[in-house]
Amino acid sequence: MRVLVAEDDAVSRTILQRAVQKLGHEVLAAEDGGRAWDLYCANPDVDVVISDWMMPGVDGLELCRRVRAEERGDDRGYTYFIFLTALGDREHLLQGLEAGADDYLSKPLDRDELEMRLTSALRVTDLHRRLAFQNRELEELNRMLFEQSRADPLTLLGNRLRLREDLEVLHGRAKRYGHNYAVVLCDLDHFKAYNDHYGHLAGDDALRRVAQAISTGLRGGDAAYRYGGEEFLLVLPEQDVGMAAEIADRLRRSVEALGIPHEANAPGGVVTISAGVAVLAGSGDADDLLREADAALYEAKEAGRNTVRARGGETDGG
Ligand code: GH3
Ligand code: MG
Ligand code: MG
Ligand code: MG
Repeated sequence: MRVLVAEDDAVSRTILQRAVQKLGHEVLAAEDGGRAWDLYCANPDVDVVISDWMMPGVDGLELCRRVRAEERGDDRGYTYFIFLTALGDREHLLQGLEAGADDYLSKPLDRDELEMRLTSALRVTDLHRRLAFQNRELEELNRMLFEQSRADPLTLLGNRLRLREDLEVLHGRAKRYGHNYAVVLCDLDHFKAYNDHYGHLAGDDALRRVAQAISTGLRGGDAAYRYGGEEFLLVLPEQDVGMAAEIADRLRRSVEALGIPHEANAPGGVVTISAGVAVLAGSGDADDLLREADAALYEAKEAGRNTVRARGGETDGG
């Protein structure tokens, strides 16, 4: 372990330092509390502090309080804190423990007592290290579960849960600050026929490729989600209906340009999408907006597919 010794009496300090080193530990020695604090801050790997009670400047009690406060704010490991106490200091022991000390050693130094204290210290700091490690693992696992529960495994886009959460944030902001945003609902054309002809696995593959084309075609700040089976929803902050329709049409063309053969999808014979665009208007909520986009998508399908229709603005976008 790395042991920081704080003791203003030079003789005691040297004796303690040698005794700790003899037990196989590394020692940093300080001649007062202020210097000990500096060393503690500069050495995040200090496991144990053995501190005198009375020292000029920063005394042992203050040093102990600072060590405990530093640990809370930082992600450094637990520091085992031992007070050195002369007989006359006994009344301070409770105060020391309350300030966060783990144990005490009486002066003059007894080597066996020192060894026992450091054995406990090793056990406690090891335990804290293991707990901290497990905590980090759990946090990481939680983070992964959080991400997994919000991602669609096939396309790796956000799923409906993520969409709900993101829309709630965006919608709240839009209402509060009068910001605008658009949504685009995209749906693969005649995709049932695609599955029937090429098989479900090929269908999955086509979905993945379309999702990829859509998400790489978006700018930062925009987001794509898998909304349903063969439906994707795009959320475009700060876009009016005309611009959103242009973006949707660019994505529509990029899907077409993939050239994934789809015999039953006349006239091009490749996989295509239709899209419905809607922008936030007035007092509506996010669900109203999604309904609008759905209605616009229906119009795009009616208009012959592989096209874009828009609602909620002056442009019709198709
Ligand atoms: P439309 O142009 O009107 O949208 O016709 P469509 O055939 O695409 O529409 P419909 O809603 O009748 O069919 C959607 C199809 O999408 C049905 C289903 O087989 C397919 N689909 C949905 N989810 C998946 C999926 O995860 N994988 C595959 N391979 N196919 C899917
Ligand atoms: Mg002293
Ligand atoms: Mg559909
Ligand atoms: Mg479809």
